[in-house]
Amino acid sequence: MSRPKTTETGADPECGNCGGEGVAVSRSDGAAVAAVCACVGVCRRCGGSGFARPDAGSGTLARCVCHDREARCRLFSAAGLPARHAQNTLASYRDGAKRQTHLKKVLSEYLRDLRSRLSEGRGVLLWGDVGRGKTHLTCAIARELTLRHGVACRWVEFSHLMSDLKAGFDEGRPASSLLDPLVQVDVLVIDELGKGRTAEPTAFELAVLDELVSRRYDAIRPIVAATNYTPDGIRGGGTPGRESLADPRWPALSERVGMRVLSRLRETCDFYEVVGEDHRMAASRARRPGS
Ligand SMILES: [Zn+2]
Ligand SMILES: [Zn+2]
Repeated sequence: MSRPKTTETGADPECGNCGGEGVAVSRSDGAAVAAVCACVGVCRRCGGSGFARPDAGSGTLARCVCHDREARCRLFSAAGLPARHAQNTLASYRDGAKRQTHLKKVLSEYLRDLRSRLSEGRGVLLWGDVGRGKTHLTCAIARELTLRHGVACRWVEFSHLMSDLKAGFDEGRPASSLLDPLVQVDVLVIDELGKGRTAEPTAFELAVLDELVSRRYDAIRPIVAATNYTPDGIRGGGTPGRESLADPRWPALSERVGMRVLSRLRETCDFYEVVGEDHRMAASRARRPGS
């Protein structure tokens, strides 16, 4: 029997663009966007109607998986992922060290149990030195949330978010129009949490972050975050039996976000330290001739 030319939901299993997923991710205007891949033909499961019975004809008629594809692409494109990280996936995260493999496993479990984690408002906080792949992971999580699970999410880089909000407030835009979308989205992903241009966070940054985190806390909506700062007082970094020692070269996360915010995050997020070789250093070494 010859292999079918399309997957059950209409994509070409050998498509170089989507690998049979039916969704092609690309870059547009500095942002990562997704669209239904050009290889997608008529869905064999539903014949293009968008409704199918699960388990080969038995059971109640339900929305076919192919129907969600466009909606999920829209969610991905609306997440605001940077173009540089358009193709980041959990699978493509380099996990040379044992603890990186462990991290990949716990993040996969988080995504597998997503519905219950979301209903509990449970999030994740990744912390560790620069260049360890934290941004790769936050982008990969946002991709999984939107494309695989159909969950609305917004990815923001902390210092850019703060300057955008500051500009918005300075223009006299109402606080609700600036903050409500960030409070209402299912999952808010904050990269580089606490990062700022000043030695100490400004009163504006502390107040806005406190408002954002408190309102999401009250609404039981999770935050996924990554930070270069050490969450002081956290012992073990999510790895049972392992003590994490705060690096004295780096300020503590509490100094960058305030104790109240840190305490809310501690209550709602599982904290994991991201370890391993500095990816950027390794990449520049690899580019150097003769090395
Ligand atoms: Zn394709
Ligand atoms: Zn279908």
